[in-house]
Amino acid sequence: MSRSPRRQNPPPADPFAAARATIREAGLRCTPARIAVLERLAEAPGPATHAEIAALLAPGAKGGGFGIDKATVYRNLVELTDAGILSRIEVGDHVWRFELRKRGSDGSVAADHPHFVCTECGAVSCLEGVEVTLSPHPEGSGAAAAGRDARRAARRDPRKEAPRAADSRRRIGSVSQVLLKGRCKGCD
Ligand SMILES: [Zn+2]
Ligand SMILES: [Zn+2]
Repeated sequence: MSRSPRRQNPPPADPFAAARATIREAGLRCTPARIAVLERLAEAPGPATHAEIAALLAPGAKGGGFGIDKATVYRNLVELTDAGILSRIEVGDHVWRFELRKRGSDGSVAADHPHFVCTECGAVSCLEGVEVTLSPHPEGSGAAAAGRDARRAARRDPRKEAPRAADSRRRIGSVSQVLLKGRCKGCD
């Protein structure tokens, strides 16, 4: 095959540089499968299941596919999760969903965020930058114990009755995941 006589542009910067750096920093080898899995998750609009990622990477998939079989995709998802690159969530349908753990500019892992699942279509979305706080109702048992005056104060200014984080921890243990359910914009 003859090459085009046109001068070739300089090779483009490595489009997978960020994925490679993330994988190396976690002490793993940069295999094509790991890079491909990471890239698909970086492009995903929300947490993705093993089946969804495998479908994108399967031989003959739209966009060329990568010829990576399901078992290999699964093994890589687990390895990347164990290495702390991915996090894994379960929204009540017994299916693990994976997502890239966001990192700050200093490389530190961002705090986990709540997720929203649509009870109609099952879509799962990330609620980044959202914090869910558990606080007892001002008329609840905590306020009752504190007395009538505290309840009046709480009505004027609910923050006076805001529980300390330690209080909710004592009552329910430690929260590992916050999941909100409802109807998404498309289904509402
Ligand atoms: Zn929906
Ligand atoms: Zn998320």
